[in-house]
Amino acid sequence: MPRDLEHDDSETMDEIDSQSMAAAEPRRRSDGTDPAETDRETVLELDGVVKEYAAETAVDSLSLSVREGELLTLLGPSGCGKTTTLRMMAGLECPDGGEVRLGGEVVADESGHVKPENRDVGLVFQDFALFPHLTVAENVAFGLTEADDEETARRVDELLDLVDLSGHREATPDELSGGQQQRVALARSLAPEPEILLLDEPFSNLDVRLRVEMREEVRQILKEAGVTAVSVTHDQEEALSISDRVAVMNDGTMEQVGTPESVFEHPESRFVASFLGQAGFLSAWHEEGTVVTPIGNFAPQRLNGLTTEYAGTDLDVLVRPDDLRATVVDESEADGHIIHRQYTGPSFVYRVELDNGDVVHCQHNHVKELDIGKPVRVELDADHTLAWYPPEDESDGKSESATERVSESARPR
Ligand code: ATP
Repeated sequence: MPRDLEHDDSETMDEIDSQSMAAAEPRRRSDGTDPAETDRETVLELDGVVKEYAAETAVDSLSLSVREGELLTLLGPSGCGKTTTLRMMAGLECPDGGEVRLGGEVVADESGHVKPENRDVGLVFQDFALFPHLTVAENVAFGLTEADDEETARRVDELLDLVDLSGHREATPDELSGGQQQRVALARSLAPEPEILLLDEPFSNLDVRLRVEMREEVRQILKEAGVTAVSVTHDQEEALSISDRVAVMNDGTMEQVGTPESVFEHPESRFVASFLGQAGFLSAWHEEGTVVTPIGNFAPQRLNGLTTEYAGTDLDVLVRPDDLRATVVDESEADGHIIHRQYTGPSFVYRVELDNGDVVHCQHNHVKELDIGKPVRVELDADHTLAWYPPEDESDGKSESATERVSESARPR
């Protein structure tokens, strides 16, 4: 029997009401940019870029703008075309269609491209690619071919100070830790003051602990240098924690570009929702004034952008583990049963199969251990509005549909 969840969390609802009102007049655009920053210069632009390898289209009509001073991360599963996109930005690959513009100038289109050494780009490779026989200072000075000795020495000092390696200037790379080698690679790429810095999976060669430490450090260095940067990763946590904006790719195309908060909390597609952390979907029905779900009824204000205009439609509501709580109850009061338990250290994540067949995840503090097979009541405990989608089998046009009734404008943005 559906329970009415609206009455017992009025404080949260007040907050959500004000969030929905704020959402009606968004301060940010859907690509995560702030209208107040409209004058920020576009440094790099991909315009309908295509890259094909034999029968495979690795990148398909991809468009993206990178703005001055931002750190933008290309995120997506293995093989989705991130590295190919970065290589076209660098000039290491020539697109088969579309245009790449750097500082407003076309540097690549299907007729040809400007080589990397003639573009004002810096590159940081996965393996850092330091010269083993050169000292730290010589590695950093390597790209400063146009500066005189005095200027080179000044710039090397400045960069070693920036990456906190002034005490290691005479060391060779094999005398440094992984994190220190990465900072040398960063300093070397920043030395000629490139218009844009491109980082290909910059943390993948570091162990897990160092990776987390270096994320913070690298972001701080890039911000201090004021450089525009594009990074590539398949690690969601890394992308969300270091980026100003995240560009989520799937199968050679761009799924969504936005701030880490907007792509995580308001994913525009099921793919983005599922790629950025565990996602569960509640099969819901929107009647005027309420949203009926297998775990109870919600006020429509709990769903981002849902209005009475869409009354009478089916919806799938996105719920993540931290949005739900499970409580063991009698079989007669249960919404479903625990079918799996995952220990993550700080918490347990329980997989619950609801009576209607939906599968959701509930996260609990690690001291709260629930047994597999137990009947549970599942409650919503989210302090933000939830994203929603037209049901999957209908969104591909197979059936007469809510899709026709739920217009694009109602999709989470
Ligand atoms: P990963 O995270 O595994 O590095 P990715 O998202 O960076 O993956 P890409 O390396 O850009 O993906 O590859 C995209 C697709 O293009 C893949 O299917 C890959 O096999 C193909 N591809 C990439 N480079 C080449 C190449 N030089 N020749 C043929 N196919 C290629």
